[in-house]
Amino acid sequence: KDRLFGGLKKTSSKLTDNITGLVTKAKLDTEDLDEIEDALIASDLGPAMAAQIREKIAAGRFEKGIDAEGIRQIVEDEIAAVLAPVAEPLDIDAFPRPQVILVIGVNGSGKTTTIAKLAHLFLEQDYGVMLAAGDTFRAAAIGQLKVWADRIGVPIVTGPEGGDAAGVVFDAVKRATAEGIDVLIVDTAGRLQNKRELMDELAKIRRVLGRLNPEAPHDVVLVLDATTGQNALSQIEIFKEVANVTGLVMTKLDGSARGGILVAAAKQFGLPIHAIGVGETIDDLRPFNAQDLARAISG
Ligand code: GDP
Repeated sequence: KDRLFGGLKKTSSKLTDNITGLVTKAKLDTEDLDEIEDALIASDLGPAMAAQIREKIAAGRFEKGIDAEGIRQIVEDEIAAVLAPVAEPLDIDAFPRPQVILVIGVNGSGKTTTIAKLAHLFLEQDYGVMLAAGDTFRAAAIGQLKVWADRIGVPIVTGPEGGDAAGVVFDAVKRATAEGIDVLIVDTAGRLQNKRELMDELAKIRRVLGRLNPEAPHDVVLVLDATTGQNALSQIEIFKEVANVTGLVMTKLDGSARGGILVAAAKQFGLPIHAIGVGETIDDLRPFNAQDLARAISG
């Protein structure tokens, strides 16, 4: 918890510094409300969320006036209300097994690390886990995933660099099925530079999966780097076009001043948020808890 609160400190202080300086008065005027709204927007909460919170504060009846803590509480409540419906851990419940989780996202977003963290989490829950190195585009990606797999102690299916990603996925599903694996986590190439190619590749993986198991992929998880701010939002938009995104994991919330982007994403897209990344080690994946996050972001 400390890591999350510590990490989001930068986001929240950006917000509270602005608010604290502002309110010790009994009644807020338009100028005060403008300032609050600006502070909310500066915290990456997004204009829609900022306007909603402003309305809420403006509409409030405060017998003895409202102070910074009162405002902070409203901000927390409003954020929690937006986050609560999207807080949804990944469920391993697919039968017949394996459940196939496709992981997508641009390079550098923390995709590989998140796959390792998820694998570790499922192992701890006593599921049989296997990885598939479906990012055949980068040799480094295959190597890196293999290092994680060995470290955690899960089997991994790889193919040659530059090879056919769908082929790797095909082999992986067959092997996972034969070995009674519960969860197969599939890495994919994150080449947003060439949307057409990426779309074709994902479509091909889907076709291959569908041939082996009509329900697969059961989950398509988009990994986003919170520190990229607004960029993360446009990535959701683009990936929604190229893949049927079913949920999100947001990484690097430790030490990011842009934690508000999580709220903006929830507000704008309403996609389930499965977990958050708060560091580089295997244990640094947190379940997405709406109230905790709302508290951490609001200060
Ligand atoms: P990929 O290219 O999307 O597979 O990204 P990686 O998993 O290789 O991660 C890119 C960098 O971000 C690495 O240095 C990771 O250690 C780091 N990283 C990933 N997730 C987190 C996180 O939640 N917090 C922090 N601080 N770093 C992270």
